[in-house]
Amino acid sequence: MAAVPVYRWRLAPDGLATRRQLRAQGLRPGGQDVAAQLERPRRRRGPLVAYLYSIEQAKPVRPMTPAKWAALERANAARRTCPECRRDAGYVIPASLGMCATCAYPEEQRAA
Ligand SMILES: [Zn+2]
Repeated sequence: MAAVPVYRWRLAPDGLATRRQLRAQGLRPGGQDVAAQLERPRRRRGPLVAYLYSIEQAKPVRPMTPAKWAALERANAARRTCPECRRDAGYVIPASLGMCATCAYPEEQRAA
């Protein structure tokens, strides 16, 4: 890695932010190189280092990847699965029932 400017803790110039600070603004480094690093001296140990990125070059957090959608879909499927009959009810199991309507009201289903 090329040498980057090193700043003392809390003395970073404006326009730079750590990955965590970017994230708090809905941003990500977006493939840019580290713009600078912060060093916080510690006694008898190496300094604590944080990497800084240019806010200007940061990109918005990627909205939703296919993998994230798949994970969300799995989570929703779990919420739709009735714990009684283990079937996908096709809707989110109401917490008040704790099971699908077919299991909660077997008589009404038979009458229908
Ligand atoms: Zn059920």
